[in-house]
Amino acid sequence: MLLGICLAGTAQSRKTENVVIITLDGMRWEEVFGGSYTAIMNNKSVTRDSSGMAKAFWSEDTRERRKKLFPFLWTTIAQQGQLYGNRHYDNKIDNAKPYLFSYPCYNEILTSYPDTAVNSNDKIINKNENVLEFINKQPGYKNKVAAFATWDVFPYILNTWRSGIFVNADVDTIKFASSNMQLINDIQFLTTRPLGVRPDVLTYIAAREYLKEYTPKVLYIAFDETDDFAHAGLYDQYIGSAHAEDAMIADLWKTLQSMPQYRDKTTLLITCDHGRGDKIKSNWQHHGSKIEDAHEIWLAVMGPDTKPTGEQNKPGQLYQKQIAATIAGFLGFTFTANHPVADPVTTVFNK
Ligand SMILES: [Zn+2]
Repeated sequence: MLLGICLAGTAQSRKTENVVIITLDGMRWEEVFGGSYTAIMNNKSVTRDSSGMAKAFWSEDTRERRKKLFPFLWTTIAQQGQLYGNRHYDNKIDNAKPYLFSYPCYNEILTSYPDTAVNSNDKIINKNENVLEFINKQPGYKNKVAAFATWDVFPYILNTWRSGIFVNADVDTIKFASSNMQLINDIQFLTTRPLGVRPDVLTYIAAREYLKEYTPKVLYIAFDETDDFAHAGLYDQYIGSAHAEDAMIADLWKTLQSMPQYRDKTTLLITCDHGRGDKIKSNWQHHGSKIEDAHEIWLAVMGPDTKPTGEQNKPGQLYQKQIAATIAGFLGFTFTANHPVADPVTTVFNK
C-alpha cells in the first residue's frame, strides 16, 4: 500500500497527458548508436550503390555517422530526452529469451509480460492484456487509444476483439470523413507492395491524419520495413528505411508540438521489438532464438517528465518487459493485467 500511495503522489506531479509509442521492427542498436557499417555498405552483394550510400551516411566520426542516419534521434532526442542501450558503455536493455522474433517481443513490449506460451508469429489471438487496452479502460481515455501498424498481425497481438482499441493494420480501410484519409486509403490500395504489406509511410501518414482529426491520448505506430529489408539482405534499403522513419518521427513531433492538446504534454517512446546478430557479422540479416545477440535492443524517451540526460553512458540494465508499465506510469497509472507485470523504468520519470 505504501508503494501505491507513493506512486499516486508522484503521478500528480507528472505533466504527460498523451503518450506516443513508435517501434522500428528489428532495428539494431549497433546502427542506432554507431551509424551505418562500412563493411556491410561496401559489400556489393547487399548494397547496390556503395559510394552513394557512403555519401549519404558515412563519416569517420561515430557521432557524425549516427546523426546522418538518425538526425532526429541524435539532435532533438539526444538534447531533450534519453537514449538507452549503447552497449559500448555497458548500458543495456534486453528482451526475454528464447523467442527473439516479432510477436513474442511485441507481446513483451505491450504487456510487460514475456510469456513463453507466446511463441509464434502466426495470427493467434493474444490472451494477455496489453497496456493500451488497460489505458482505454481508464476514466477519460475510452476511445482515445489508437494503433497504426504495417504488419497485419497487430490486431491479434493487441486482441482488438477483446481490447476494443482502434487498430488499423496493413490494408485495413482508412475511409474516414476527411478527404486526406480517403486519399491515403486510395493510395494504399493502388500502390505496389514490394514487401507484401503497405509501405511504412502510409502507416505513418494515416496515423498522423488520424491524430489531427481524432486527437487520441495514446497513439502507437508500428513500422516494419527495416526488418523486412534486413531479411532480404538489402542493407541499403534497411538503412534507407531507418532514415525515413527517423524523418517521420521528426515530422510527427513537429505536428504534436503544433497542437495545443499535445504541445509540452506528450511523451514519446521509441524502441524495437528485437535486435539482430552482430557477433557473427553476416548475422546482421537475422534474428530468432539461434542468434544469441538478437535480445539486445534500445529505447529512446522524450517528454515533459523526462530529464534531458541524452545518451546514457554509464553501465545499466533495463528490460523490454518494463516498457508497458512505463507507458502507463507516464499517465499516472500502475499497469495491472490478467498476468504478472514487470516494474516500470523509473529513471525516465525524474524531471
Ligand atoms: Zn524478422
